[in-house]
Amino acid sequence: MEKIFYDFHLHSCLSPCGDNDMTPANIAGMAFVNGLSAIALTDHNTVKNCTSLKLAAEQYGITVLYGMELTTDEEVHTVCLFPDEKSANEWNEYVYSKLQKIKNNTKIFGNQFIMNETDKIIGEEEFLLINATNISFEEVFAPVYELGGIAYPAHVDKNANSLISNLGFVPPDSTFKLAEVHNLESLDALKSAHPYFENCTILSSSDAHYLENVNEAKHFLELDDPSPKGIINHLRKLNTK
Ligand SMILES: [Zn+2]
Ligand SMILES: [Zn+2]
Repeated sequence: MEKIFYDFHLHSCLSPCGDNDMTPANIAGMAFVNGLSAIALTDHNTVKNCTSLKLAAEQYGITVLYGMELTTDEEVHTVCLFPDEKSANEWNEYVYSKLQKIKNNTKIFGNQFIMNETDKIIGEEEFLLINATNISFEEVFAPVYELGGIAYPAHVDKNANSLISNLGFVPPDSTFKLAEVHNLESLDALKSAHPYFENCTILSSSDAHYLENVNEAKHFLELDDPSPKGIINHLRKLNTK
C-alpha cells in the first residue's frame, strides 16, 4: 500500500477566476514544494491545460490526473477526473458542445490562457468557461464513468455552486458514493443535515485559484497502484462500495 498525498481540485490561469500565476510550471513546482504526490487540474469546463501540467509535473515525479470542474445546468460544480488525455479530450469535446457560448469579457473575468509546460501562452479560450452547460447534474456520472473516469460533486459544503446550495438536497435517485468537502470541520453538520453523506467517501481538496492556496500534504489515499489509472480505479472502487 502506498500513501498518496493528493489535491484533486486546482484551477489554472485558464479558469477565468484562476490567478495568472497559476501556470502549469508554477502549479507543478508548488505541488512539489508542498509534498503532494498526486494532483488533478480541474479548470471550469475545460481540460486544455492538463497535458501541460502533466508534462511540467513529471520532472518532480508527481502523478497528474486529467480533470475538469463541470458546471451543470443547475450551476452545480462537479469534479470529473480521467486517467488519460484521450478520455479527457472526449469528455472535453462533449462539454464544449454543451457550453453556453458567451464571449469572455477579459476586463471583468481576466484572460483564459492555454499554456505549454514551460508557461508559454499557446492559446486563449474565447468563450467564458465558467458558464453553465446544458448537462444536468444527474446526466454527468454515467458518461464520465463510461469514458473510464469518475465524477463526484464538488465542495458540497460551500454555499455557492454546490449540490446542496443550489439544489438544497441530494436528489433521491443519486448513486454517487464520493463527495468533495472543502472544510472538513463542516462534515458533521453536513452529515446530520443530509444523511446521504454518511455513506460517502469524503475527499477534500483545495479548490486553489492562487498558488498559496494549493494544499499541503494533509489529505491522502492509500492504494496499491499510484499511477493515474490506479488512482482512478481506486476512486471508482470507492464509488461502488
Ligand atoms: Zn467550484
Ligand atoms: Zn473550483
